[in-house]
Amino acid sequence: MNLRKTFNIPTKKQKTLINKEIELIEALAEKEAARLTERNREYARNSNNKCPNCGATENIVNKIQHVKGEGRVSGSFIFGTGGVYGSSHVDTSEVRHCNTCGNQWKTQETDYTYKKDVIKDWMYNIEIHIEKEYSFGTETAEMLQDKGIHAESIYKLIGLNDCVYNSTKEFLTLKTLKTVFKSIYVTQ
Ligand SMILES: [Zn+2]
Repeated sequence: MNLRKTFNIPTKKQKTLINKEIELIEALAEKEAARLTERNREYARNSNNKCPNCGATENIVNKIQHVKGEGRVSGSFIFGTGGVYGSSHVDTSEVRHCNTCGNQWKTQETDYTYKKDVIKDWMYNIEIHIEKEYSFGTETAEMLQDKGIHAESIYKLIGLNDCVYNSTKEFLTLKTLKTVFKSIYVTQ
């Protein structure tokens, strides 16, 4: 009987491997966060540089919209689809203005995705994958399986990240993780 295995006590070599795998997952999450941020930046760029009313991509300028009283907007707005008139509340007074048709729409800011957001999503995906509730979590689980990530590494990573949902933390016990990820005590 292997007591280390029974009580989940890693050897020095296993500990080193767990830490290396955590570094790898964090590096992958960092890369994914950068990719998503770039995608959002592209989306904002497209939204800001193309008039949703007439489709013009030139002669679009920034304009400070006059906001009357209780956040009421003067004039008409067209946000991408359909028109919103008069009483819409906006949280920014800077708008994009199309000099071709006179349309104005809200300036799209870039949403930044951070490493912790990706880790939170990935851990949630693993939960969903194990629960077999939806299929969207499978891709994340398979990606980490392909990298040879062990259950113990994911377990420790979750413990280090406050961003992970509490319900996910509760669900992803070491025992549960071992149903889809190999155990370091089996391979090492
Ligand atoms: Zn226009």
